[in-house]
Amino acid sequence: MLSFERVKINHADPKKRLQGFTIEPLEEYSDSSAVAEASRCIGCNICTQACPASLDIGGYIKSTAVGDPAQTVRIVFENLPFPAIIGRVCTHMCEDICVLYDTGGPIAIRHLKRYAADKFDDYSSIISVPKRKFVGKNVAVIGGGPAGLTAAYYLSIQGVKVTIYEKLPALGGFMKTGIPRYRLPQDVLDKEIGYILSQGVEVHLNTEVGKDVSFKELMNKYDAVFMSVGNQKPRMTGTPGSDAENVVHATEFLRRSSFGEKIDVGKNVVIIGGGFTANDSSRTALRFGAQNSYIFYRRREVDRPGYPSMNAEEEMEEADEEGVHYVWEVTPFEYVKKGNRVVAVKYWQNDMVSDGKGRAKPVPNKDKVQTIDADYVIEATGQENDYTFMEEEYLRKLRLTPQGQPIVNPNGMTSIPGLFSGGDSTNGNRDLISAVRDADQAVLGILQYLNLMDKVSEEFIPLLDRWKKYSTMAAKIAYSERSA
Ligand SMILES: Cc1cc2nc3c(=O)[nH]c(=O)nc-3n(C[C@H](O)[C@H](O)[C@H](O)COP(=O)(O)OP(=O)(O)OC[C@H]3O[C@@H](n4cnc5c(N)ncnc54)[C@H](O)[C@@H]3O)c2cc1C
Ligand code: SF4
Repeated sequence: MLSFERVKINHADPKKRLQGFTIEPLEEYSDSSAVAEASRCIGCNICTQACPASLDIGGYIKSTAVGDPAQTVRIVFENLPFPAIIGRVCTHMCEDICVLYDTGGPIAIRHLKRYAADKFDDYSSIISVPKRKFVGKNVAVIGGGPAGLTAAYYLSIQGVKVTIYEKLPALGGFMKTGIPRYRLPQDVLDKEIGYILSQGVEVHLNTEVGKDVSFKELMNKYDAVFMSVGNQKPRMTGTPGSDAENVVHATEFLRRSSFGEKIDVGKNVVIIGGGFTANDSSRTALRFGAQNSYIFYRRREVDRPGYPSMNAEEEMEEADEEGVHYVWEVTPFEYVKKGNRVVAVKYWQNDMVSDGKGRAKPVPNKDKVQTIDADYVIEATGQENDYTFMEEEYLRKLRLTPQGQPIVNPNGMTSIPGLFSGGDSTNGNRDLISAVRDADQAVLGILQYLNLMDKVSEEFIPLLDRWKKYSTMAAKIAYSERSA
């Protein structure tokens, strides 16, 4: 019988989850659950309009509904080479606008993608990309995060020789060094990155552009360069006491954890910030044995980055299950030190003041001072772009937005001919799927710039504007066809 209720996604026992980094919070759908959930979809594809990478969501949900997960993976691969990764950690804005939102709940689009992708250990058994001959063009990619890897995949399968330069000892960018392993297991990263590299991508790890190899050299040596360096330079608060040895930026904390370091965080951990990174730091600290993990945010819960969305609510639910404490509307103003270590954090309670324009502003009420014990302080207060790897002659030509992001044309090209840019350094969304979209766009731009459009295999070029095909009218027609 047709059910309108979303098929429940079971959560693993939080106590077991907290024992380490190996148990994922959300359990996989069984075959029958996946088919039941996918069968609720009416195929209107309204959700595609909310997907930055313009995936054919209705199409791949339908393949799952008819028991063909291989086809689901193939459809996802049209624009995105990480179905199992995105199936776990996507911000899934698509679900926020699913037409079934108020009718039993939105289709579990993200979870269904994970289900389909996890069916296959090796995508080469289900995807046949053309064995392309070298087309005579070489492209350098700076940074091996999701944007760089996506560009490398779609260019390589067109016969372009791609070389990735990555300063760390591993590929993945923040997929590897930010998102913790309990949300994104290492074997999932290995499977999907491994498949991309199997297309013939050359990789130089531990190679920092600007230090081990110059930017200028890459610009001269390659026919085009894709700059996907992320937004990685830590922004610290400068709170008095932040020079103590037990105060770190979240990206450093999470990076060390991702490379297997066991960090002694003590009993009480205070995290400053309110986004993904604060949550991941807090939950990681609990896995390192913290008894109390507090997230200090200067605004209200509803003001957190990413609100309102299902993603933010789900993230909060998982954090609540694990015992993360949130302290809203506060401003830390001193890390109290004993020797070279912080032992407490002093903070003011904020008043939220609205001037009628935009969101209410947090104003510290300095009469309301409070103190909390702290054995470890993590600042999840954002990052900035860093262009120190570029020589002055290029920096002068690179046009930036007022926020310091490279300005790119609709083909992803910067103001420097042959230099393309995408991902966190370039878009304001700062999530994986937007990094993928930027890379898809730059792939088309690079192929055009290198005059390769008449040589490419069109079937394997990312299709950027699929969403334009779908409208509310299309949804109505699709719905009436289904129910006829
Ligand atoms: C803790 C945390 C949790 C997150 N959780 C999510 C989530 O759940 N869902 C989601 O969608 N997004 C999430 N994000 C955001 C997401 O990870 C980013 O949007 C995405 O990784 C950006 O991709 P990118 O390729 O632009 O850059 P990055 O992933 O930042 O990769 C950039 C790469 O470039 C390398 N690099 C930089 N400079 C140089 C140089 N000079 N030479 C060589 N290499 C260089 C870096 O080492 C890095 O590997 C999270 C981010 C963090 C920090
Ligand atoms: S918006 Fe339409 S196509 Fe997309 S998941 Fe919901 S019902 Fe399916």
